Amino acid sequence: MKPEEKARIFDEGLAKLYPDAECSLEYKGDPWRLLVMARLSAQCTDERVNAVCRELFGRFPDARSMADAPLEEIEELVRPCGLFRSKASSIKASSQKLIGEYGGVIPHDIDRLLEFPGVGRKIANLVLGDVYGLGGIVADTHFMRICGRLGFYGEELRDAVRVERIMDPLVPRERQSELCHRAVLFGRDICQARSPRCGECPFTEICAHMSGEGK
Ligand code: SF4
Repeated sequence: MKPEEKARIFDEGLAKLYPDAECSLEYKGDPWRLLVMARLSAQCTDERVNAVCRELFGRFPDARSMADAPLEEIEELVRPCGLFRSKASSIKASSQKLIGEYGGVIPHDIDRLLEFPGVGRKIANLVLGDVYGLGGIVADTHFMRICGRLGFYGEELRDAVRVERIMDPLVPRERQSELCHRAVLFGRDICQARSPRCGECPFTEICAHMSGEGK
């Protein structure tokens, strides 16, 4: 089967399973908040990020107030998310850059987004896709694992940039953001990291892991 056809079956199957898939970070339509929350979500669950950010944004509700906030205070607030020193530092520095260089408006351009401290392609694509509707493959741990098992590439590949390069041409841009959000739900529910529930999966016929090819 051609990879384009497999990607179409995967995309359409996920859309049936999760018709209302949205980003599970509660950023309330604010691109700066999404940038902050995506940074906090590294090695942390979205649930914890949502809980932490209720307090964080209660204290510093916008980029300007975060840019001026004492670093130690941000560190204390984001401590439950782990890696708190590095995360706090990049959140403050990104907010300063946003205010100083962009007047508070998150740029639409991936190369400019990648210049923000702590922002990699995953975060940049998330913002471009969710906020500006520009698409972008968000190669998080679930997406990388599932697409590897399905056989779009070897199961051992865990390089977000390479995964993005492989998957980007296979999925129409306007469908990429939703596909990635749905893949996260699918990875939590069915194609779980330690023990995939293949008996409940609608993709067994196209899955390299099931056929033994992906192992
Ligand atoms: Fe994952 Fe199993 Fe479904 Fe393949 S068949 S996608 S390994 S749950």
